[in-house]
Amino acid sequence: MAEIRDTVILGSGCAGLTAAIYTARAGLKPLVLEGHEPGGQLSITTLVENFPGWPDGIQGPELIENMKKQAERFGAEFQLAHLSRVELGAHPIKLHTSVGEIHTRTLIIASGASARWLGLPSEQALIGHGVSSCATCDGFFFRGKEIAVVGGGDSAMEEALFLTRFATKVTLLHRREAFRASKIMLERAMAHPNIALRTNTVVEEVLGVEQKDVKGLRLKDVKTGATDELVVSAMFLGIGHEPNAKAFAGQMDLDEDGYIRTTGNVLTTHNGSVIPGVFACGDVQDRRYRQAITAAGSGCMAALEAEKYLEERGH
Ligand code: NAP
Repeated sequence: MAEIRDTVILGSGCAGLTAAIYTARAGLKPLVLEGHEPGGQLSITTLVENFPGWPDGIQGPELIENMKKQAERFGAEFQLAHLSRVELGAHPIKLHTSVGEIHTRTLIIASGASARWLGLPSEQALIGHGVSSCATCDGFFFRGKEIAVVGGGDSAMEEALFLTRFATKVTLLHRREAFRASKIMLERAMAHPNIALRTNTVVEEVLGVEQKDVKGLRLKDVKTGATDELVVSAMFLGIGHEPNAKAFAGQMDLDEDGYIRTTGNVLTTHNGSVIPGVFACGDVQDRRYRQAITAAGSGCMAALEAEKYLEERGH
């Protein structure tokens, strides 16, 4: 018979680590399962300027490392594991993972969201060969080169600005005329001498599949239908994220884009009824705010709900 944990937290981003700090401090000895992107999105970002308490900003990976140390100090345990299947209706809840079956009284889902791709076969073929969704991870390899960034939100602006450290020129490609990015980020990108913005433009093909190296992009102007080629050595995607909630489909209410629908902030439901002991926090259930501080806030709420749930049942 497997040990029954009080709390298992899925995900080690900002939401999961905050939940870990709170549940660990409450003596619940949480087990945090770290998936394929330990530390979540903050671990692949650069300077975080809007997390309260850091007047000069803090590097995303450092912020995450600090949170992890804080959780460990109170007894949180960490385990790298891939979740293959869950049984949310079971008591205790059963998790089938790459490191075996785990049983728990409460589950806090903080599995976040992963970078979205365009879905072009040529793009998929060239991931790791000039196609990337992480400027901070891969920008360094394109020093002195020309590169393209796709997207019209804050992520795309941030990536484009960051990549000017390495690239001689960054062309930002956006499919519409209007940008989704915040005014301050858009203005910074527009003002940068090495960033060129191209609107109403989509990528039809990434060139270089045979050479196994990005050689350029075939672009289409969506207004005129005209196509042309842009010579670049890399294409970075900054087109948003997909929630990591597929494992819960059929056992939990998800919205039309696959985000977990929560009620009372962090309670999960199945066919409208609350699922006992299962809570969700952070980007996997937040399509609106998606900030580090809101993820941390909801991680705290999920932890407090898990504590209350266990206390009411005498654990
Ligand atoms: P986002 O705001 O959802 O923007 C995604 C962008 O990608 C949109 O412009 C969208 O175009 C475009 N896009 C989506 N799918 C596409 C496709 N298949 N082909 C071409 N373009 C596509 O996502 P985000 O930029 O990742 O930002 C997410 C949240 O994090 C936001 O709340 C943002 O403020 C926050 N954030 C903040 C900072 C910061 O303040 N430093 C940095 C990064 C992120 P449409 O506009 O046409 O839909």
